[in-house]
Amino acid sequence: MPRGDSRELPAKGLLFGTAGIPHTSREPKTTQGGITRARELGLGCLEVEFVEGVRMSVKTATAVGEAAKNRRVRLTAHAPYYINLNSPEEKKVLDSRERILQTARITHAFGGDGIAFHAAFYMKDSPEAVYEKVKRHLIEIIEQLDKEGKRVWIRPEIMGKVSQFGTMHELLRLSAEIEGVAPCIDFAHLHARTGKFNTYNEFSQVLDQVGEKLGRRGLDTLHIHVSGISYGAKGELKHLDLKESDFKYVELLQALKDHDAGGIVICESPNLEEDALLMAGIYRTSA
Ligand SMILES: [Zn+2]
Repeated sequence: MPRGDSRELPAKGLLFGTAGIPHTSREPKTTQGGITRARELGLGCLEVEFVEGVRMSVKTATAVGEAAKNRRVRLTAHAPYYINLNSPEEKKVLDSRERILQTARITHAFGGDGIAFHAAFYMKDSPEAVYEKVKRHLIEIIEQLDKEGKRVWIRPEIMGKVSQFGTMHELLRLSAEIEGVAPCIDFAHLHARTGKFNTYNEFSQVLDQVGEKLGRRGLDTLHIHVSGISYGAKGELKHLDLKESDFKYVELLQALKDHDAGGIVICESPNLEEDALLMAGIYRTSA
């Protein structure tokens, strides 16, 4: 985690935004148009979704970066879903590394803070073996980006299915051990994976752990995902709008406020800006 540089979020407190272009953006739907719409709505950030692949030219990324700067919207990115750093097939591992690198490079080109991604599946391996493998790949990915002068935060995400690498413990450990890695804390996934983490006290425990493992800076530069979610015995089933789910977002927002948390909150509910605005409103008016 340590590394004080331009990836610091300057403002105190939390910014709220959408996973991808807000639904109410004007046609044709572009990232620049999404940034404009986010500002009109009073949102402060946007996660650029490369979940089906990184398809953005450097030229477009430069224009996107300009738009974000002018409208004071902070950007992050989500890497493609097709990543598994623990695939038994060497080719798939190399492709996974390449997708993470591509996402980081283009995010650097638009001045984004960092990238969230789904690191791996356990397959038949022990969590400890997968941990060591993921760790080695992330170290090498960061070395490569450093060589290119393209530093962005590398943020493996807390995952919602028990088959997926990415428990809170694993991510905090990776973040503590690798410079340039920080967690993407997906509270919906954490809840779906465990059936727990849905009360003020449990949310507070997560934030206490972040503070313990990553220090005050970890709490000042959070990258959070929130949505409603449905789940079963094996974890996540699908994302829902907050009000259709059992997720206690009001308690989460209170815990974040009480911990003086800073950073960005990306809403991944199907209704995107509606829930982002719902949370932003509650956060703003809470004591
Ligand atoms: Zn994700």
